[in-house]
Amino acid sequence: MGAELIKAIVFDLDGTLYQNEQMGGQVNLSACRYIAELKGVSVEQADLMLEEARDSLAGLAATLSQAVISLGGNMHDLHERMAREVRPEGLLAVDERVVGLLKDLASRFGIHIYTNNNRSLSARIMKLIGVADFFCKVFTIEDFWRPKPDEETLIFLLDAIGAKAEETLFVGDRYQVDLALPATLGAKVFESCTIEQLLGLREFLAQEPTA
Ligand SMILES: [Mg+2]
Repeated sequence: MGAELIKAIVFDLDGTLYQNEQMGGQVNLSACRYIAELKGVSVEQADLMLEEARDSLAGLAATLSQAVISLGGNMHDLHERMAREVRPEGLLAVDERVVGLLKDLASRFGIHIYTNNNRSLSARIMKLIGVADFFCKVFTIEDFWRPKPDEETLIFLLDAIGAKAEETLFVGDRYQVDLALPATLGAKVFESCTIEQLLGLREFLAQEPTA
């Protein structure tokens, strides 16, 4: 009694619905090039600066976005560059297990994406991994230009999907970035860093009260 039913599931995209080190490398290189240009330093120096900036954010959500912001960069310019430079084509492929899981979940819940990635890259990635058609709403960095974790954005998102925090399950690969804030608002959370863990979502939901 008192347990809220899960109505909606909000997935992180990168690292959660797929894992690919080369993609991560391309994203990082693009950010390094951006900082190199901004600061008038070499790409190697920019890489070190970003690493140091991330280290100094320790304890907080040490995202690439926050590191870029702390070095004086802005999300518009970073993502305009990333959308041009990062090439998921040829790196990502459909995993039928993930497609099957999301298809099943989409028939039972409102499922959504909430990502720090930009609209263009997110759309290309979702198409390549074969999951583009399953989501009711896709929230990218371009909706608010405020990277996760961000409470104001999160509250707006819950309102937009028409679910209370307690009725929502957040799924992500980084606890501090994707899950800690939703959990403080009363949402349920599921951490997943591999496809095997993601597939465990079925079992997790079987033990939760759902509509
Ligand atoms: Mg992620």
